[in-house]
Amino acid sequence: MTLASFIALWLAVAIALELFSRRALRLYRLVRSGKPVARFDDVPARARAEATDVLGQRKLLQRLVPGLVHAAIFWGFIVLFPTILIAMIGAVNPHGTLPRLGAQGWYALLVDVFALAVLIGVGAAFVIRKLVRPARFQGSHLGEADLILGLIAGIVLTLFLWHSSQIALGLNDYPAAWAPISNALSRVVAPVAPVTERVAVWAHVLIILSFLVYLPYSKHLHILVAAINVYFGRTRARGRLEPINFEAPETEVRFGSGRASDMTWKQMLDTMSCTECGRCQDVCPAYYTGKALSPKLLIMAMRDNLFSGSTAPIVPNAVTDDIVWDCVTCGACVRECPVNIEHIDHIVDLRRHLVMVESRFPEEAGTMLRDVDRTSNPWGRPQSDRMQWADGLGVRVLQPGEEPPDVLFWVGCAPAFDERARKAAVSTAKLMQQAGVDFAVLGPRESCTGDPARRMGDEYTFQRLANENVATLNGAKVKKIVTTCPHCFNTIGNEYPDFGGRYQVVHHSEFLAELVRDGRLQPAASERTITYHDSCYLARHNDVRAQPRELVAAVGKAVEMPRNRERTFCCGAGGARMWMEEKRGRPINQERVREAAATGAETLAVACPFCTVMLDDGVRETGAKLQVFDLATLLHEAVAGRQTAEEL
Ligand code: SF4
Ligand code: SF4
Repeated sequence: MTLASFIALWLAVAIALELFSRRALRLYRLVRSGKPVARFDDVPARARAEATDVLGQRKLLQRLVPGLVHAAIFWGFIVLFPTILIAMIGAVNPHGTLPRLGAQGWYALLVDVFALAVLIGVGAAFVIRKLVRPARFQGSHLGEADLILGLIAGIVLTLFLWHSSQIALGLNDYPAAWAPISNALSRVVAPVAPVTERVAVWAHVLIILSFLVYLPYSKHLHILVAAINVYFGRTRARGRLEPINFEAPETEVRFGSGRASDMTWKQMLDTMSCTECGRCQDVCPAYYTGKALSPKLLIMAMRDNLFSGSTAPIVPNAVTDDIVWDCVTCGACVRECPVNIEHIDHIVDLRRHLVMVESRFPEEAGTMLRDVDRTSNPWGRPQSDRMQWADGLGVRVLQPGEEPPDVLFWVGCAPAFDERARKAAVSTAKLMQQAGVDFAVLGPRESCTGDPARRMGDEYTFQRLANENVATLNGAKVKKIVTTCPHCFNTIGNEYPDFGGRYQVVHHSEFLAELVRDGRLQPAASERTITYHDSCYLARHNDVRAQPRELVAAVGKAVEMPRNRERTFCCGAGGARMWMEEKRGRPINQERVREAAATGAETLAVACPFCTVMLDDGVRETGAKLQVFDLATLLHEAVAGRQTAEEL
């Protein structure tokens, strides 16, 4: 050990730590300045997410090649981590190493193998970026990513050079045979080993320290904070939005995000965690159809705005109005994001501010909000019309004070007021009657659940409707609810518990599949080919994917679209987009209909009244040779043994 090298090392480490911690402290203070959000509960679920999504690289490995590339680099760095300390000891004292670990043959083998894996990973990442050039990288900071990859390659190459020089000089504490790659290289470097041993170890240490300093100042901050962001991710239902507490003191009520300082600390952390990988952008129906919204660019814009210290309104200074209103809240981005960024919460918070503070929203959506306010449904129809769909069916309307039925059939506004969506409610009611289910409906006492108002950002209206509906349901002592609408299903099941409404909520596809399984409904399967469109609020937000397929198999021959189950593609109606004009890009519903038609199926089955309307429109607009039916209608046809579902 020389005093000079000891001083040089500690000087380099001290400078690096000072620069690193100065920036890290600033970022920490910034996150601490964010508005509160409860994310310290549910430790076991958070630990599980850390194990699967960070250590296991679960989401990244959904795309095999880029996933393996990332996993090789990530796992490699975990294994190589102790070599940082070993190299620092070696820089000061060529004969020194970390006690125990530094002398282990098995660790030398692991280091050799994983260093090679990192090198291959870096090479593959360069090939993907420079030659394959996936569209998802459009708009990402590719220059910085290249520099990071270069630094990683430098770390591994200097490690190999140092180890092989050590072996050539006999300075290795572990048996050389355990490190086959370094051992083989040692013969090549042997003539210059006295020089390369010193140069490599110092270069190795200095690149690592430069890397440490560069990260918090770069756009690739995610390397430091992504694991923390995953830990603080959502553990509650994916389809649930965080309610605003209007009862809080006036100064503490947060009306969404107007300025960067309105964001929660988790949202700030989200922006710092973005890897700019573009996986969210790749699956976003808005981006895919040429709209202004890219979830990746939105998060990057929110980060740049946060870091700029701007006190100007986020919309339109950092994010345009179009971007905010393009989102269908389908959740594809959230599901895909490897670092669990919660895009929908960001977008809904921007909407909340625009709607509740600035009263700014697309004109057509304003009509919907006024109708909901005036008539308690987005169709603007009187509540007294709510039972028209059931004319002649003999459906029991639950009156105040009556004994509750086994099942409360929550009809929903679309089936009650829209001709095309009505068939699903009629079929479900008839099937329940045939199966002898004791059920009733609320009739005019049922109001909109508030889902469209909430997704549009009007939390006031949502909470008014939620409180009214919960009071009605609790007053009626309802225990089990069946609904044909995935939006009602999500809102009542996942969001009403925040307002004191706790029920067993079942989607009609689950309920009907159970009746078929129990033999209470006996459909006759036909030769009809059916492709099933998964609703985002059913398949992705709520994991109901198997039961609809059971029904399809019970009535016909299934053929899947490429984008299916949790990776379904939206119909275009979610997030209150049902009530907004699609002014930009290609229509989302037509895109989905073309995908369905390409399967060659005769029937496009759905399990959502919004999907029914949107995809039926899409079929008319594209001229596709498809018929759109709700699963309940198809099942009723199969049970009744009729020729076509159109007669029902
Ligand atoms: S929720 Fe859907 S539409 Fe909205 S940003 Fe994410 S992927 Fe795009
Ligand atoms: S938000 Fe997530 S999926 Fe999208 S680019 Fe950033 S890290 Fe990737």
